[in-house]
Amino acid sequence: MSEAKAQRLLDAIAAEIREHRPCGFEICEQATNLVPGEGSAAAPVVFVGEAPGANEDAQGRPFVGRAGAVLGDLLRVAGLTREEVFITNVVKARPPGNRDPRADEVVHHLPFLDAQLEVIRPRLLVPLGRHALKRFAPGMAIAEVHGHVIERDGRTLFPMYHPAAALHNPRLMPTLADDARALRQAL
Ligand code: URA
Repeated sequence: MSEAKAQRLLDAIAAEIREHRPCGFEICEQATNLVPGEGSAAAPVVFVGEAPGANEDAQGRPFVGRAGAVLGDLLRVAGLTREEVFITNVVKARPPGNRDPRADEVVHHLPFLDAQLEVIRPRLLVPLGRHALKRFAPGMAIAEVHGHVIERDGRTLFPMYHPAAALHNPRLMPTLADDARALRQAL
């Protein structure tokens, strides 16, 4: 598929995500903006977080708050730019009060992520944190597999701690930076 066609398909998926309400799900109907994700259709790496937070909900863009600033630092360490990767979430709407997304909400949103990945077909998929990891490698613990290449269901995964984890626990920052350097090697 040409990059232009892949970009058109990604744009169509983004439009479908932004416009899919009303759907009866509180998480979608209370959102200010749904957040499809953004980046290149030719991305070699896709970063997948959990769900948008307050800043993302306000702007309709992924990882634009404090966790996004940490992700930006990690991208630099990995030798990547936001423009050349694709950044998205398992769930495309902010859970009210920043609670964890419910299982039925994850199921409601998964077809969007699956469609995006089907178009991009990245070399590496980076689940950020345990919630995203659960989607791609159920039963694996982020503490054990972060910073390593894992093959699962025909996908090459490179799990990393969620950038927000380093905000809550600054001692994780060197580990995240080490993993970003390992990501650079893996690419
Ligand atoms: N945390 C996430 O998991 N995703 C975002 O987009 C922002 C913060």
